Amino acid sequence: MAEERTYIMVKPDGVERGLVGEIIKRFESKGYKLVALQLLPTSRELLNEHYCDLKDKPFFPKLINYMLSGPVVGMVWEGKDIVKTGRRLLGETDPLKSAPGTIRGDYCIDVGKNLCHGSDSVESAQREISLWFPNGVLSWERHNVHKLIY
Ligand code: ADP
Repeated sequence: MAEERTYIMVKPDGVERGLVGEIIKRFESKGYKLVALQLLPTSRELLNEHYCDLKDKPFFPKLINYMLSGPVVGMVWEGKDIVKTGRRLLGETDPLKSAPGTIRGDYCIDVGKNLCHGSDSVESAQREISLWFPNGVLSWERHNVHKLIY
């Protein structure tokens, strides 16, 4: 069976603050495998689709403007229980409720500028990966995996 995958996105504030490397490092250090990576400007169309479940929330217009404020870095990570563990690495939606040691817990304070996105279920991950990477993502093997200590 294929390994679980998730969509992780560094939002415009994370790119602007130079935290892309730090966020990648946390997933790499944990032992997860990067299978897709891109820097791109977002569009209203993509964001409306990505956040379709939130379109009736009062903060939706603010969220879309925030996400349109600069480029994002989208990634697909692969590995055991990556969807749930990826969300734990990011922290809570509200950075003030995020434990120190998580990305949001360590680097931000505002729910409206919370640095990163992570898929909330395997189904959302599949939908988001197809949306942001319509040409598919790489499959590759780590041949030296037995030398790494996780
Ligand atoms: P998560 O990104 O943790 O899955 P949600 O899907 O509930 O959280 O919300 C999507 C994004 O919308 C959040 O990451 C955050 O950027 C923004 N958001 C959520 N709640 C608020 C709020 N009350 N005010 C402003 N922005 C919010």
